[in-house]
Amino acid sequence: MKKTVLITGASSGFGKATAEFFVARGWNVIATMRTPQDIPGTFVTRLDVEKPETIRAAVDAGLARFGRIDAVVNNAGYGLFGVFELTPEAKVREQFEVNVFGVMNVVRAVLPHFRENKGGCIVNVSSGAGVFGLPMISLYNASKFALEGFSESLSYELGALGIRVKLVEPGGVTSTKFGERSAKDASMSSNDIRDYDPFVLAANQVFAEMRAARSADKDATSEHVAEVIFEATNDASDRLRYVATSDILPLVEARRQTSESEYMAFMRARVGPKVSRMP
Ligand code: NAP
Repeated sequence: MKKTVLITGASSGFGKATAEFFVARGWNVIATMRTPQDIPGTFVTRLDVEKPETIRAAVDAGLARFGRIDAVVNNAGYGLFGVFELTPEAKVREQFEVNVFGVMNVVRAVLPHFRENKGGCIVNVSSGAGVFGLPMISLYNASKFALEGFSESLSYELGALGIRVKLVEPGGVTSTKFGERSAKDASMSSNDIRDYDPFVLAANQVFAEMRAARSADKDATSEHVAEVIFEATNDASDRLRYVATSDILPLVEARRQTSESEYMAFMRARVGPKVSRMP
């Protein structure tokens, strides 16, 4: 029998590539998005992770169409970039509404069905930003760290019911619309405190260097991330985390395989902006 996956944020980037990847491997795909547009071979339906009634309707429509849902990929999300003090509170809340509470809304909607089936798989698309902190993305970092903590804990309580939880951690992939939305949001932040200017300049330099280093990575594509999402979904083991692109491996390994002091020294040397400090 064909298996069925529901994917959020399927309008572009990883979500769209994942929908196409699953279709090509014979799955039924419920491709959900805020503004429906056709993806050949999938069942497209509207879903806004901030609106629980649209999630309920999308799950019901998917069940009416295919009779069953085997996996959910919580991919919808975005990165709020910028200095914390310069970011309006409404933007902070919006980041958590989508990246954290949005995922919880979707999980809440599918759990009764997964419990009834005594199985299912929840794949949450995290980020390198869910593993290590970087300058200028404290709010995106906070949302993805929250997602990681939520998923790790959830994996224990749902594991007891035969439901698997997976975290996929991509690094920087520039072919999606991720950068576009981040840049648009950042440009709307106020900039009436000049004290941060040297830090912002130095942090931008750090990001430019990271982008240049990344351009050589052949696996930094949406298709590759989709493949890792597919592997995670089909991995019957209780493995929780899957690093999806090799650009972030040195940072992930520093975080997970060295001591706290070694890790912080490594990160400060690498991403700590070289701005003058108080004596
Ligand atoms: P993308 O092309 O911008 O795709 C993001 C998707 O999320 C879009 O379909 C967008 O829909 C959707 N979305 C945003 N807010 C939503 C909401 N309230 N309800 C439903 N859908 C919503 O970016 P992407 O790079 O593929 O990002 C996908 C995921 O990967 C995100 O969780 C992101 O944090 C993560 N990630 C990305 C990178 C990267 O470098 N690209 C790295 C690590 C992790 P609309 O078209 O309606 O806005």
